[in-house]
Amino acid sequence: MANRERLVKTFCDLARIDSPTGEEEQVARELQRRLEALGLSVARDKHGNVIASEPGEAPLMLSAHMDTVEPGRGINPLVDGDRIASDGSTIVGGDCKAGITAILEALTSLKERGARRRPVQVVLTRQEETGLVGSQNLDFSLVRAKEAVVFDGEGAVTKVTTGSPTYVYVDFTITGRAAHAGVEPEKGISAIRIAAELVASLPQGRLDPETTFNIGTITGGSVRNAVPEHAEVTGEFRSRNPQTSERVRRQVLDAVSAIRQRYPEARIQEVLRPGFQGYNLRPDDPLVARVVSVMKGMGKEATLAPSGGGTDANVFALHGVRSVVVGVATTGMHTVRESVSIPDLMDAARFCEALLTA
Ligand SMILES: [Zn+2]
Repeated sequence: MANRERLVKTFCDLARIDSPTGEEEQVARELQRRLEALGLSVARDKHGNVIASEPGEAPLMLSAHMDTVEPGRGINPLVDGDRIASDGSTIVGGDCKAGITAILEALTSLKERGARRRPVQVVLTRQEETGLVGSQNLDFSLVRAKEAVVFDGEGAVTKVTTGSPTYVYVDFTITGRAAHAGVEPEKGISAIRIAAELVASLPQGRLDPETTFNIGTITGGSVRNAVPEHAEVTGEFRSRNPQTSERVRRQVLDAVSAIRQRYPEARIQEVLRPGFQGYNLRPDDPLVARVVSVMKGMGKEATLAPSGGGTDANVFALHGVRSVVVGVATTGMHTVRESVSIPDLMDAARFCEALLTA
């Protein structure tokens, strides 16, 4: 059975190893050592992701990411009753080391019990926090699993994420013509003016329950007294509906061509590039149904909901690995107030254990 003392020690030991995004090597080596001790054979792909495998049919992928956000150096995890928090100067790194801990504790407990279980592939990624970089560079030729549980959600393990939007980066670069603002403004073309008109003609905010659009930054101009030659605009949109996503994409392109007609002498470049691909699992999907029934067997009610954010599950889904995301007992993620609930973390480990023996 999952052991609370061992679980807390594993988490604190991992939290003490600095692993800000891009600097995961030390924790990766430690995790490789632990996974090998559990009898798995561990490969590192070219990007440094950890892929632990074992023989057997239809393995279930268990995944979490190794990197943590800043401030995340010199973390001093403090156990206070049922919670683990930092000393207030850093995050505690429950996102996502609590997820890794749940996976390790489940496998350790199952090994100890000598329980028969489903084969696993444990995939621990790098650089999740800066845009799913590790999973996007994951060597999928090493991945045999077709189903994954990603331990990377906020809150209790029963918070199950079954869908996530497609994410599109939107960038505009506008080049007008500089001119003295007081002497000969009629010779200029204001890139800022064009940017403003463009932004005003784009959608904004929540477009429908599954779609959002945001312009996040606008920069441009060089001095007060010159017609600005350059402006840059960056934004994003997300939708869980592929048709809506395509419709918004066309709406953006139409807005750009209308502005181009209005300012034929300016140069307006647009780049719309996919950040991550969305996915939606139905409640009757076999993986979702199994997760829900295992939780029910633990006396817990799962809550299924899509998320507005992305995780490695988006990338896995794109490569044909159906994935659900479960909570990792952490609240206040990405802040120095982050804390891990030990009972919730025990539940996450027990869930993982039960899922593998179900
Ligand atoms: Zn995370």
